[in-house]
Amino acid sequence: MKPPRSLIRRTPWPTSTSRPVVTPLSPSVVYASPDPDALDAQYAGGTGYTYAREGHPNAEVLAAKIDHLEGAPDLFEAPGLVVGSGMAAVGAVFLGLLKAGDHVLGGDQLYGRTLRMMNEDLPRLGIATSLADPSDIAAMRAALRPETRMIVVEVLSNPTLRVADMEGLAALAAEAGVLLVVDNTFTTPALYRPFAHGAHIVIHSVTKLLAGHSDATLGWVAAKDPALAEKMRVAAVTWGLTPSPFDCWLAERGLHSFHLRMEAAEARAAELAGALAGMPGVRRVLYPTRPDHPDHNRAVALFGGRGGNMVSFELEGGRAAANAFTRAAPEIAFAPTLGDVGTTLSHPASSSHRALTPEARERLGISEGFFRVSVGIEETGLLVGEIRAAVEAAAAVSR
Ligand SMILES: *Cc1c(COP(=O)(O)O)cnc(C)c1O
Repeated sequence: MKPPRSLIRRTPWPTSTSRPVVTPLSPSVVYASPDPDALDAQYAGGTGYTYAREGHPNAEVLAAKIDHLEGAPDLFEAPGLVVGSGMAAVGAVFLGLLKAGDHVLGGDQLYGRTLRMMNEDLPRLGIATSLADPSDIAAMRAALRPETRMIVVEVLSNPTLRVADMEGLAALAAEAGVLLVVDNTFTTPALYRPFAHGAHIVIHSVTKLLAGHSDATLGWVAAKDPALAEKMRVAAVTWGLTPSPFDCWLAERGLHSFHLRMEAAEARAAELAGALAGMPGVRRVLYPTRPDHPDHNRAVALFGGRGGNMVSFELEGGRAAANAFTRAAPEIAFAPTLGDVGTTLSHPASSSHRALTPEARERLGISEGFFRVSVGIEETGLLVGEIRAAVEAAAAVSR
């Protein structure tokens, strides 16, 4: 290689007859074109990149992988879009596809920030919203309006793990001529592929189970209809929902072990749910494959016998028992996230659902003793032992 003529001029990338096995990381914000004709052709829809906000290779490589997981090209053809967070994916749907005067019907237990968009931000933009229980089709139907443009739901609710009536919702959306938008973050394509069941748009917080290591914040969104996908792409580019190349690169690496992590976490989650059910001081356990789960039959039908990695349970005793529980399990991160390789704990009454009144929480079944566990892939014996010790510590306080 020749020495550069100036330190400022970028050194040409060395040529090599062999190629890297790992996807190269491309942090470049800009891409230089040979001449105006080439740049013109590029803006007119040619291949390649110009400016990272408009798209970059690491986002495209990652999107193709998630597209594959969600069933492309059999279930949908338009390429999915990777954006800067799960909320950016929700934002791309709303900003790309709605206008003032439209109405959006959402599930009543959506992710907290999505609920905020529905309750505060869309109305501010002249878009009406309402919420109803997605496991109750009559309630959802009653909430539809002539201006309804889309129904937005999550398959498994947070944190009570209720299962939406996805078949009923697909039929309702088709009958009403509205878009069915499914946030598949909790279920992941391992349990459920919404495009195979009537969804028009699918969303992921890639931050969670897909990337899986709590070191990248990303989202993904795809539409069955290429025209809708293009509108969301333009909105994402315009509003700057761009993902970081490095995060895309990390998430791609995380995805390689997605299926293995998911299977391992599910096995541990089922075992933990069973163990919790037998522990004194535990009032109830929620896990979709357990026969005592309120939506057990629907869960089995939708997820083919798989249960996912989320387990919720309720301790006897109030906040004091909850405090004793987290303090007695210091190695399990008490942190408001899910889908990490390691188990994490969330306490909805003090975090995701703190804005609700105690009565509203009670109606959802979220008491001070309610915990949600995102089960990771550590040794089952270690995990169950830690949780058992913490449940005992909580029981000692509430006695
Ligand atoms: C976390 C989450 C989001 C938001 O994703 P971020 O990557 O944190 O922006 C949206 N929906 C669900 C169901 C989530 O769990």
